[in-house]
Amino acid sequence: SKTQVGFIGLGNMGKPMAKNLLKHGYPVIATDVFPESCKELQELGAQIVDNPAEVADQADRIVTMLPSSPNVIEVYTGPNGILKKVKKGSLLIDSSTIDPAVSKEMAVAAEKMGAVFMDAPVSGGVGAASSGKLTFMVGGVEEEFTAAQELLTCMGANVVYCGAVGTGQAAKICNNMLLAIGMIGTSETMNLGIRLGLDPKLLAKILNMSSGRCWSSDTYNPVPGVMEGVPSGNHYQGGFGTQLMAKDLGLAQTTATNTKTPVPLGSLAHQIYRMMCARGYAGKDFS
Ligand code: NAD
Repeated sequence: SKTQVGFIGLGNMGKPMAKNLLKHGYPVIATDVFPESCKELQELGAQIVDNPAEVADQADRIVTMLPSSPNVIEVYTGPNGILKKVKKGSLLIDSSTIDPAVSKEMAVAAEKMGAVFMDAPVSGGVGAASSGKLTFMVGGVEEEFTAAQELLTCMGANVVYCGAVGTGQAAKICNNMLLAIGMIGTSETMNLGIRLGLDPKLLAKILNMSSGRCWSSDTYNPVPGVMEGVPSGNHYQGGFGTQLMAKDLGLAQTTATNTKTPVPLGSLAHQIYRMMCARGYAGKDFS
């Protein structure tokens, strides 16, 4: 029988991901600072414990899915963190989107305890997390990739090895910068079309059979009523928080600054999402 897998962070993404591990027959031991988020998983048979150290005390494979860099630092190296109790030879997979420099720091800290840390951020959103169709971008020691893949294929359709630790984050940050630019472009385009008297559903249909098509126009359209089953059709609830997108654009900005890379549209997208946060939309979906 399969051994227990630890899961830390049962939010919009973590909960459906952990459910897919259960579905594939892995016993799950999990924790979240917000007790309410553990309920559903507990009802499905997962063991819930108080903190990350307790997870590490029992499981030697752990997946973390947390909001941002400070949460990851806390969960790995904090007073009740994973590394306080981690077993030698453990595999620690962080699927949060964070600063690649922090991923590298966590890998060094894990190695000191005889454990292996890999970054494996995801693309795909809550829908893909639920249906097990995420794309994982994995950075870390190549010899450990097969072991990581065994777990990640339960939650994703694509598991791609990117290179040394931190390169999964690099790929993810690039993807999300393009996603943000595409979403803003789709939004202003749809708005112009509506003001020119076009029916938004028809305009989306035309874009999606033309060269303006992108993921934001054909899979996650920002205009209410154009598509079903997306946050725009549900008052922008759930999905991928505007605050999280602003965070990812901040990471893109930092890495661009460090490498002296010009990213004018990425920078503008960052400012626009920060303005949206300031205007009270931080907790709403980024579309
Ligand atoms: P979320 O805020 O819904 O969930 C994060 C969870 O982590 C929350 O339940 C929170 O209580 C928990 N948490 C925070 N600090 C903790 C701690 N110290 N110990 C234990 N639990 C803690 O966020 P999400 O939407 O699930 O996103 C998670 C990560 O995945 C983010 O980095 C995000 O950028 C990335 N991501 C999200 C999406 C999406 O569509 N939502 C898609 C791809 C990637």
